Amino acid sequence: MDSRRPFNLPNWTVLPPLALKGIGTVLVESLHSYVRRMMEITGISGLDLASYLHDQTGGLVSAKWTSRPMLGLGAAEVARIKEFERLTGMRTLRFGTLWAMSDVLSINSNLYGAKSRQWCPRCYAEWDDESYEPLLWSIDIAWRCPGHDCDLERNCPACGERQFESYRTARRMQCGRCGCGLGHNGRRSKKPMIMRWMDDQCRLLVEFCVNPRSEPMLWGDYLYFLSGLRESAHAYGDLETHMRTLLYGTDLRVRVQSQRPTIRTLLNLCALQGISMAELLTSPRGASGPLLFNPWAGLKHLPLPAASQARWIYVTLRSIETFTRRRPPYLPPIEFFVTWFGVNLPSLIDADPALCKRYIERCARQVPTCRSKNLYRVFCRCINKLIDKPGSSSGPGKLLKKTALMMELNSQEAKKVALASFLARDCLAQSSVDSLKAEMTVRHALEWLLERWETDGEALGLGLYVRA
Ligand SMILES: [Zn+2]
Ligand SMILES: [Zn+2]
Repeated sequence: MDSRRPFNLPNWTVLPPLALKGIGTVLVESLHSYVRRMMEITGISGLDLASYLHDQTGGLVSAKWTSRPMLGLGAAEVARIKEFERLTGMRTLRFGTLWAMSDVLSINSNLYGAKSRQWCPRCYAEWDDESYEPLLWSIDIAWRCPGHDCDLERNCPACGERQFESYRTARRMQCGRCGCGLGHNGRRSKKPMIMRWMDDQCRLLVEFCVNPRSEPMLWGDYLYFLSGLRESAHAYGDLETHMRTLLYGTDLRVRVQSQRPTIRTLLNLCALQGISMAELLTSPRGASGPLLFNPWAGLKHLPLPAASQARWIYVTLRSIETFTRRRPPYLPPIEFFVTWFGVNLPSLIDADPALCKRYIERCARQVPTCRSKNLYRVFCRCINKLIDKPGSSSGPGKLLKKTALMMELNSQEAKKVALASFLARDCLAQSSVDSLKAEMTVRHALEWLLERWETDGEALGLGLYVRA
């Protein structure tokens, strides 16, 4: 510090000391919105700002200007926030990001990718000089505007196009493709309870992050929480296998590879333990106790599958659909598809209750139960044989003769099963699966699933698992 500076003159900062709006509340401004206001007030270009930050942080921050939202996760972003704080003299800018979680959360916490942002149409319609964009909009699992309680939007109301990030306010408020204004009255949809619960947890996460604190949450606290959870799961015998696997998998990845969780994983762990995000964040050690597990006897699967799992759910449903459309004379139990594609049944039913219900009912009608086990065994054998030899075009008869005899099927039953297995083979073949996978990118799969929940909200089983 310059000792010759007269003490009664202000200590100017490089950038004007603009304050972040809404600190300490769920309406807190995002750092992205703050930087945009700063650029508009000072007229500094993004490129100038980026190259300055690049020099100041010894190259840690890229010299290329990016309009990606700043969530404060990862070393480069933390360095960028600190530099902004130094340039403006405002030590609170970090609370406009998820900085408080920077030692815990994965930098890949954005589920839908950087090329898709969400906004509140009413906020845009009522925009004035005091307006700003809240941090909560940057969390893609959140879907309600903290100011208006109406749905956030991701697509242009006129042409349906997704919108890129931009640092120009005027550009943000109109569609990048057709130019239609993105602001309007908004709507409040009736979403299933699970989605409300997830949105509430995102608000709690933001509230935790905007509460002024000197250090981020400790990685060790998260580790402690997870190992406590694992012990609880161990003590709780009835936990479904796939949940146990998922929990142990998360635990193992954390301990062995120090893999950081995404917001989605945190939500799932909260649901698994039956606690709120606030309990997990403010008292991670206390919240992992074994007693909490018991009220969750109704929990059948984790609320939010990984995006890749959501895509498998899509593939499974479409395969079942194609298979039944061909009117096979025999239907294997739905568990066959569940096992084949490695999805879990409750998730599948939640994604398309009507289709699953129809399939299960048709299955139940077709054979007396004492015979169904045998038929199913033959079907599985046939499928495995057929899939082993994808080019085989010889009729079902030859393949079946031996198997059918061994399983004591009569010739009519054997014919049915053989024909069904041939029809199923086409749906399960690698080429069919690949084309189904091409229809649904991993990036859109989770969004698709959440939309399914919205359409079939009433039938959704998930709501039952959410504690009020
Ligand atoms: Zn709003
Ligand atoms: Zn448009």
